[in-house]
Amino acid sequence: MNMHQFEVLVVGAGGAGLMAALYASRNAHTAVLSKLYPTRSHTGTAQGGVGAALGNIEEDHPEWHTYDSVKGSDYLGDQDAIEFMCSEAVDAVYELEHMGLPFSRTPDGRIAQRPFGGHTNNRTGKPVRRACYAADRTGHMILQTLYQQCIKNRVNFFDEFHVIDLLVNEGVAVGVVALELATGELHVFHGKAIIFATGGHGRIFDITSNAYAYTGDGVAITLRKGIPAEDMEFFQFHPTGIFKLGILITEGVRGEGGVLINGKGERFMGKYAPTVKDLASRDVISRAMHIEMQEGRDIDGKRYLHLDVRPETVNKYAAEDDRTNPDGTPYQVTGEEILKKLPDIIDFCRTYLGVDPVTQPMPVQPTAHYAMGGIPTNKFGEVVIDENNTVMPGLYAAGECACVSVHGANRLGTNSLLDLIVFGKHAGIKAAEYANQVKFVPLPEDATGFSRQQLDAILNSSGSERIADIASEMKTVMNDYVGVFRTEDGMKRALEVVRQLKGRFKNVRVDDHGKIYNTDLLNAWELSNLLDLAEITATCALERKESRGAHARDDYPKRDDNNWLKHSLAWTRNGDVEIRYKPVVITKFQPKERVY
Ligand SMILES: Cc1cc2nc3c(=O)[nH]c(=O)nc-3n(C[C@H](O)[C@H](O)[C@H](O)COP(=O)(O)OP(=O)(O)OC[C@H]3O[C@@H](n4cnc5c(N)ncnc54)[C@H](O)[C@@H]3O)c2cc1C
Repeated sequence: MNMHQFEVLVVGAGGAGLMAALYASRNAHTAVLSKLYPTRSHTGTAQGGVGAALGNIEEDHPEWHTYDSVKGSDYLGDQDAIEFMCSEAVDAVYELEHMGLPFSRTPDGRIAQRPFGGHTNNRTGKPVRRACYAADRTGHMILQTLYQQCIKNRVNFFDEFHVIDLLVNEGVAVGVVALELATGELHVFHGKAIIFATGGHGRIFDITSNAYAYTGDGVAITLRKGIPAEDMEFFQFHPTGIFKLGILITEGVRGEGGVLINGKGERFMGKYAPTVKDLASRDVISRAMHIEMQEGRDIDGKRYLHLDVRPETVNKYAAEDDRTNPDGTPYQVTGEEILKKLPDIIDFCRTYLGVDPVTQPMPVQPTAHYAMGGIPTNKFGEVVIDENNTVMPGLYAAGECACVSVHGANRLGTNSLLDLIVFGKHAGIKAAEYANQVKFVPLPEDATGFSRQQLDAILNSSGSERIADIASEMKTVMNDYVGVFRTEDGMKRALEVVRQLKGRFKNVRVDDHGKIYNTDLLNAWELSNLLDLAEITATCALERKESRGAHARDDYPKRDDNNWLKHSLAWTRNGDVEIRYKPVVITKFQPKERVY
C-alpha cells in the first residue's frame, strides 16, 4: 500500500492551492497533490488582471470595490466576506509584487491599472482603473511566481496525482485517495487538514473558455461525502469568447477601449447600460448580446457579434465618451499600443482565426466562463455543511471550487484572481493552525474501497456507450437550455436528458484497460463528475423562480428579494437532489435595483 502522511494536504496547484500551500507550509508539514503539472493549472490562462483599489492612477477605495462587488453580485454575495476580500486586496497585490511578480508599470514605476467591467468610481458612476495586470497574462505570472515561492519554501509536490476520494472518519476529514497517473496505483494520503482548490466545472457546457481539466472534481467528490454545494444555479457566461471555439478574449480589450458592434454596425451597449456601456457587468452584457442576436442584429445570420479594438474605432468612441487619460488629455491609442497591451489576445486571434485585431474586428459570442457556486465555506476557508454554517473539522476549500460567497449571482472581472490570493492565503493559515492543535485522526477502514469501486465500475463495464457521445449531449443541452437565458421547459428538458445520460453512463466503455497513464479511465471518471454537477445546476436553476445575476429566466424576469434573497444548498441524497436555503449576509448595503 502506498501510504503518505502530511499535516496539511492541498488538492490543486492553481493560484488558490499554491497560495494556501505557501502559507500552510510556513507552520505545518504540507503537500500539494495535482492532477496537472502545477504550472498547467487554469489560473495560468487568466488574462486581464487582479482587482485591488491601489488608487495608483486615479482615486479609488476598498469601500468602492466592496460596493461594486456587492452590486455586481446582484446582492447575493455575503457582504462581510466581500468587505474582507476588498480590504485585504491592496496588501495581497503588493505581496505578489514583493514576491517578484512582473506587473506592467506606469511611467513612474508603479503597478499599472486598467478599467474592467462593473468597477466604478462610486461618485461619478464612471469606470475606474482598478485591475492590476501583467500585460494580458496576469494569471500566468501569478502562477509562476507562486510556484517558485512554493519550491523555495520546500512544499512537497505530488504532480499528476489524480484525487478520487475524500476520506472522512466520524465527521472529520482525515485524508484523500489519489491515483498516480504514471503507475495507475492508488495512494492514500493521511492528513490533519485537507484543502480543496480544484478549480471550476465549465466543461458541463459546450461553448466554454475553460480548460479540459475543468471537470468539477472537488465539488463532485465532496457531494459524494454528504457535503452540500452552494449556489450552483449561478454560472457566468463571459460576453467575449471566440466564435465557436469559446476561447476567451479578455474584458481588458474593452478596458483598453474596445467596443461591441452588432450586424448593423451599431455600438449597442449604450441602450442597455447608458453610463458604463461596454464595461457593464458580464451578465448584463451577455444578455444584451443574446437579445441583439435573437432580434436579428447578428453578423451575417451567424450567432456572433463583433468586438472591435481597431485604433480608429477605439479613438472614435473614446472621443464620444469623453474618455481622458489620467492627466486629462483625450484618450487615444495607436496600433502599437494595442499590440503592447494585449499581445496574447492578438496572437490567439491571428493563430486561431486568421484575424488581426489591430486591423479587423473579432467575431465573439458569450462563453461559459466561471462557476460562482461551489463548496460552501466561511471567510477563513473552513467548509460549512448546513444552513447554520456548521464547520466540518479538518476540511477547507478555496478558489473557484469554493463558494465563500464573494461573487454571489455574478462575479466581477478580476475578482477571481483576488479571491484566490486572499482566501487561498487564509485557508492555508487556518489549516496549519488547526493542524498544530489536533492529533491525526485514524483513517477509516478500507480507505481505498470507494475509489476502487468507482474506477472498477468503469473498467469492468461491458456496455457500449462512448464518453464523447455522452459528454457532447450533456454539453449541448446545458448550453442551449441552462445558458444565458433559461425557460422552464428548457431547464426541464435539460434535466431529463442529463438524468438519462447518467443512466447511460453506467454502460460507458473505455478502451484502455492498462495502468500506465490511463487517461481514458480518468476522463470517464471526470465525466461522471460533470454529469452530477450538470444535474445539480439544472435542478437549482429550475427551483429558483426569479432572475438574478447570471440566472435569467423568461417566466420570472425580475429579481425577487422577498422570496429569493437566499443562497441555495444542494445535496445529493439517494440519487436525488435535495435543496435547502440559507440567508445572505447583509451588512451595509440594502438591495436596490442595479443600474449601470
Ligand atoms: C481563460 C480564462 C481567463 C480568466 N481571466 C481572469 C482574469 O483576468 N481575472 C480574474 O480574476 N479571473 C480570471 N479567470 C478566472 C480565474 O482564472 C479562475 O477562476 C482561477 O484561476 C481558478 O483558480 P483555482 O486555483 O481555483 O483553480 P485552477 O487554477 O484551475 O487550479 C485547479 C487545480 O486543481 C487541480 N485538480 C483539479 N482536480 C483535481 C483532482 N481530482 N486531483 C488532483 N488535482 C486536481 C488541477 O491540477 C489544478 O492544479 C479566468 C478564467 C479563464 C478560464
